[in-house]
Amino acid sequence: MEQEDVKHWADQIAEEVIARVENDPKLKKLVEKNGYFVYDEKTPSGTIHIGSGRGWVIHDAIAKALRDKGVEARFVLSSDDMDPLDKPSKELSAEDNIRYMGVPFRYIPSPYPGFSSFGDYFFRQVTDVFPQFGIQAELESTGEEYEKGTFNKTIKIALDNADKIQKIYSDLYGDEVAAATKLPFNVKCPQCNRIATTVALEWDSKKEAIYFECRDDVVKWAKGCGHKAWISPYNGNGKFPWKVEWAAKWPSKGVIVETAGKDHFTKGGSRTIACRIAVDVFDYPPPYPSVGYATGPGYEFFTVGGKKMSTSKGQGVGFAESVKFAPAPMLRYMLVRSRPNSVIDFQAYGTNDLILLYERYDTAEKIYFGKEDLGEKENIKQKRIYELSQVGKIPKRMPPQVSLVHAATLVQIFSDFDGCIDSLKESGHIYADATKEEIGYVKDRLAFAKHWVEEFADENYKFTVQQKLQDVVLTESQKSSLRLLAERLKKGKWTEQTLFEEFYKICRDEVKIDPKDFFKAAYLVILNKEKGPKLAPFLITLRQRAISLLEQV
Ligand SMILES: [Zn+2]
Repeated sequence: MEQEDVKHWADQIAEEVIARVENDPKLKKLVEKNGYFVYDEKTPSGTIHIGSGRGWVIHDAIAKALRDKGVEARFVLSSDDMDPLDKPSKELSAEDNIRYMGVPFRYIPSPYPGFSSFGDYFFRQVTDVFPQFGIQAELESTGEEYEKGTFNKTIKIALDNADKIQKIYSDLYGDEVAAATKLPFNVKCPQCNRIATTVALEWDSKKEAIYFECRDDVVKWAKGCGHKAWISPYNGNGKFPWKVEWAAKWPSKGVIVETAGKDHFTKGGSRTIACRIAVDVFDYPPPYPSVGYATGPGYEFFTVGGKKMSTSKGQGVGFAESVKFAPAPMLRYMLVRSRPNSVIDFQAYGTNDLILLYERYDTAEKIYFGKEDLGEKENIKQKRIYELSQVGKIPKRMPPQVSLVHAATLVQIFSDFDGCIDSLKESGHIYADATKEEIGYVKDRLAFAKHWVEEFADENYKFTVQQKLQDVVLTESQKSSLRLLAERLKKGKWTEQTLFEEFYKICRDEVKIDPKDFFKAAYLVILNKEKGPKLAPFLITLRQRAISLLEQV
């Protein structure tokens, strides 16, 4: 058996990263001190899209895979809250949009109470749901890191080597690009707090001070206050431009792994610049997946909701909102089982995507607990996907499995979840000695199934059990077959299999009716519809209600 074939992508990456560190004395020393530092960052400029969530699950899985290899690793996510507001936010009043345009997000008040800033509000909207996704991340504020002086050393190096950075820009973009002549630092004006309106004109390396002016002509969308002064660039008095900042963070924090969406990895894009600056200016090997100047691949797009969402809203689903389309553990599983370079467009409306997702998850779980065997190779693969998909601890025994379709059937039959649970206990889906956690697990499924039926499911999966027989037209043989069915249901205990066999006995041996007509008649009487859930288990669950309807024929 080829080991490489079955290895999970997170394990492959972990091995590659460990080998890289072992072969680089500088990185090895760093890792001995800091452990494997897996890093990601996000600007809290508004609602954060589910696409970024893919990155967090990827980084989390890599950190876990590294720890499983016995090394120390942690995943840190930083809020890039020193970035300024650069377009009006619908969360701010017209007045505040003017007042705070060009001001870093950490210095703009939160639009809602309970958060320290605008940046804190939007960052927390996503990080607060991390536990649901099983994302173990230490959270940081890039602004706070600036204030703490984490970047002081790289700020000095960048300013002392401004010509090198300018040359990288002109090499890649031509001399006319603004960054090819500017100092690579943006001062935060101490008078008006704006960072987008300042221009740094001179760097005095000896005094470690930078001369800046806060002006009207720096950007079109924000006005400066006219302040000009010499100021220290350290301890939060300003920030790097984004692409330089990306490169500076790597040596400042000791980053070993940091990937990003593929839009950052285009030829000549931000990752290209950052890699060049990291190597040429900071003498630091860019983190995985980059090697030297070579950026490597970013991860692919991830969209959730489907066409209906994108047309009605004009944009994709937010990360926090995504749990309305699939439970967080299922979304995590979907991201863990897919290689980062595969596009995922998850369609919830009117498709079987959710049914399939649950089925695949349950199959992986059965394999993990040794209750299904797909061959050695596939078993190894599925077990690892299951492990890395887990949000909490892996339970000691297999959780009770109820398919989405079955759960959806139950919630349409019973008025409450307790009725569903009783029925599942009777049908053997739930262990007789089920724990509170196991019951809770099933209730979560029932809750999502209810939501699925109401929001997403195809008409085929929706039904209402009739209170009394509706005005349906049936042939004599349909009627007699249903009367026989009612009799049989009344006596004796049926299993799915024995009842199914009984259907054919009635149709073939007793009434001589085409089974198709028999099934159609049963659904018409019970649901006033020509189709419905699989008949045998459905009748077993309905029992008395089915019998009384069938007897009215
Ligand atoms: Zn100013």
